[in-house]
Amino acid sequence: MGGPRLFFIYAAVSLIPIVALGSILTWHDQRTGSERALTQARAQADVIMQMAISPALDTRPLSEGLTSRELSGLWAATDLAVYSGSLNALRLRALDGTVIFADNGARTDPLGPDSAAFQAAVAGEITADVVDAPSNSGEQVIRVLQQVIPTATGQATGILQVYLPYEPIAQEIRAQQRLTQFYLAAGLAVLYVLLGVVSWPPPRRLREYAAEQEHQARHDPLTGLPNRSWFAQQVTAVLNSDGDRGSGAIVLIDLDRFKEVNDTIGHSAGDQLLRVVSQRLAEGLRTDDVVARIGGDEFGMLLPSIVAEEDAFTVLRHVQSRLAAPIHIGDFTLTVEASFGVAFYPQHGTELTVLLHNADAAMYHGKRGSDRIVMWQPEMATAPSNWHVIRTELEAAIARDELDLHYQPKIDLATGTICEVEALMRWHHPQRGLVPPSEFIPVAESSTLIQPLTRWAIERALSDQRAWRRAGVDWPVAVNISAHNLEAHGFVTIVRDLLAEGGADPADLTLELTETAVAADSARAEETVLALADAGVRISLDDFGSGNTGLRQLRSIPVAEVKIDKTFVTNLGESEGDRDLVAVLIDIVHRVGARVVAEGIEDERCADWLTAMGCDVGQGYFYHRPSRWQSLLAAWQARTKTQPHEMVGR
Ligand code: C2E
Ligand code: CA
Ligand code: CA
Repeated sequence: MGGPRLFFIYAAVSLIPIVALGSILTWHDQRTGSERALTQARAQADVIMQMAISPALDTRPLSEGLTSRELSGLWAATDLAVYSGSLNALRLRALDGTVIFADNGARTDPLGPDSAAFQAAVAGEITADVVDAPSNSGEQVIRVLQQVIPTATGQATGILQVYLPYEPIAQEIRAQQRLTQFYLAAGLAVLYVLLGVVSWPPPRRLREYAAEQEHQARHDPLTGLPNRSWFAQQVTAVLNSDGDRGSGAIVLIDLDRFKEVNDTIGHSAGDQLLRVVSQRLAEGLRTDDVVARIGGDEFGMLLPSIVAEEDAFTVLRHVQSRLAAPIHIGDFTLTVEASFGVAFYPQHGTELTVLLHNADAAMYHGKRGSDRIVMWQPEMATAPSNWHVIRTELEAAIARDELDLHYQPKIDLATGTICEVEALMRWHHPQRGLVPPSEFIPVAESSTLIQPLTRWAIERALSDQRAWRRAGVDWPVAVNISAHNLEAHGFVTIVRDLLAEGGADPADLTLELTETAVAADSARAEETVLALADAGVRISLDDFGSGNTGLRQLRSIPVAEVKIDKTFVTNLGESEGDRDLVAVLIDIVHRVGARVVAEGIEDERCADWLTAMGCDVGQGYFYHRPSRWQSLLAAWQARTKTQPHEMVGR
C-alpha cells in the first residue's frame, strides 16, 4: 500500500471522531442557547408578574371578574410594556381557561384550557415555549404561562399568559452561537492537526507493517526468495504479455535426498541448507531471471529471453556447478545435488499449468536418470508421472494389495545350494503394469510411506516363508530395508512383533540395509541396528563398495553379511581393476568375520572366479531371476532331480 494513500485513509479515519465531537458540542450549544432564551423569558415574565400584575390585582379569583381599579392598573402596566416592545401580548385567564383580560381586548385565545402547557401552569409550573405570535404576524414569540398569585394570600387566582418577543433574543443567541461555533471549529481544527502531528509515527509504523505484510505475502520467510504464488504471477504475466512474450524457459528444481538431511541431522540443518541453496540459486542467475521457492525443497525458475535452448542449459549448468560446492553445517559437510526439469515456451506450452506440469515431468526423469538437467519431451507425457502421483497411488496400492514379493536365491558357492532367498518388491500397477522398485522405493523413502511399506514386506516375507516351509524347504529370507526405517521410532519393536506373531526364529530373517543417506551416519540408526542384531536378526550390508555404504559401518555395527555391489561383479570378466578390488573386498569382509555375497553374477566365468577367490555366496541372473517363490521352488526341485544339491544356470 502506498504511503500517500495510507495517509489519506488515516486522515479520513481520524476525522471521524473530530466531526462527531464537533456535532455533539454544536447540538449541545444550540440546545443550551434556546434553553437560555426560555429561562430568560420565564424570568422576564416573573418580573412582569411581580412588578406590574400582582400589585394591580386583589385576592379574589380571576373568574369572578375584574374591578375597574384592577382593570385600569392592568392597562397602565401592559400599555407601557407592549408599547415599549418588551411585551408582545398579555392575557389573564381564569383557572378554567376563560380569558379575563387581554391587552388587545380579545376574549379567546388559541391555547385551549386542556392543552398540556395550560394544565401544567394550573398545576403550578412556569411553562415557556417558542410559538407563533397570536397576532398572526408570522413572527415567533415565547409564550410563558404562570400562576397569578396575589402577594397577600399566596393562593393562585388565575393564569398569567405573556408573549415575549423571541427574535431579539434569538438574534443575540445566534450571534453568540456563531461565535462559539467559530471557536469550536477553530479549536477542533487545531486539535485535528495536532493529533495528526503527534500520532503520525504510528501510521508510519503502520505503513512499514503494510509493506512488510506485502513482502511476506510474496516471499518465503525461510529463504527470503519469492514464493510460489508470486512465481505463478510472474510467469503468467510474462506468458500473457502479448506481442513481446518472446521465448524462454520454466525450470523446476528439486533437491536430491533433501528429506534425509532433515531426518538425519535435523530440521535446523535442513533450514540452513535451504538458505544456502537459495542464495546459490539466486546468485547463479542472469539479471532478468527469477527464482522462487515453490515448495519444501522445490524451486522454480523463469528464464525469459532464451533464444536457443542451449543458452538455458548454459545458465543451468552454471547454477548446478555453484550448487555442487560443499556446504558446511555444524560438523557436517554436505554436497547438494538437484534435478532440473526444463520446459520451454512457447514450444512446450503457453500456459502456466502446462509448463509447470511438463517441467515437473522432465524433473522427475532427471531424478531417475544420470542426466540431471532434463528438457521436457513429448514422450514424457505418457511416462510414469511425477512424485506426487506415485506417492498417492502407492498408498492406495498397499491397501489394494497390488504389491507382491519376488524372490531371488542366494547360492552357497561351495555347495551350490540355496542358502537364503532375497525378497524384492514388485508393484502390479493396474494401468502401467509391473513397476520396478527403482521407481517407487525412492518415492516411499522420501515420504512416510516407507514405514508401512517395509512393515508390509517383512510381514509378507515371513508369511511366504511359512508357506515354503510347509512345501518342504527351509530357506531363510532376506528383506531390504531403508535407512529411514532405522530412524523411525519403534522399528525394532515392529520387527520383534512380526517375528513373534509368525512364530519365526529371528535367525531365519536377514535385513539388508542400503545406506543412502547424504549424511552417512546417525546415532539413532546405529542404535536400531545394534538392537536388531541383539534380537538375533542378521544384518546384511547391501551395495557394498558403491559409495553409499562404507568401511566405517563394518567397524561400528555387527554385520553378518556383506554384499559386494553388482556394478563390480557384473563386469569382472572385462575389468582387471574390478577383479583386484573385489579380491580385496572379500579379504576385508572375511577379516571382520562376515560372509561375502557377490550380487549381479550373470555368467559362469564370473561365478567360477568368485568361487575360486573364496567368495561365500553368489546371487544373480546366472542362477535365477527374481520370481514368485512357487516358481523358484519348482525350478529348484526340477534342477535337484537332475543335479542333486545344485542350482546352476538359467
Ligand atoms: P538390491 O537390494 O541391490 O537388489 C538387487 C537388484 O539387482 C534387484 O533389482 C535384482 O533384480 C537385480 N539383480 C539381481 N541379479 C542381477 C544380475 O545378475 N544382474 C543385474 N543387472 N541385476 C540383478 P530390483 O528388484 O529392481 O531392486 C532394485 C532395488 O530396489 C534393490 O536393490 C533394493 O535396493 C530396492 N528394493 C527392492 N525391494 C525392496 C524392498 O522391499 N524394500 C526396500 N527398502 N528396497 C527394496
Ligand atoms: Ca538387497
Ligand atoms: Ca544390492
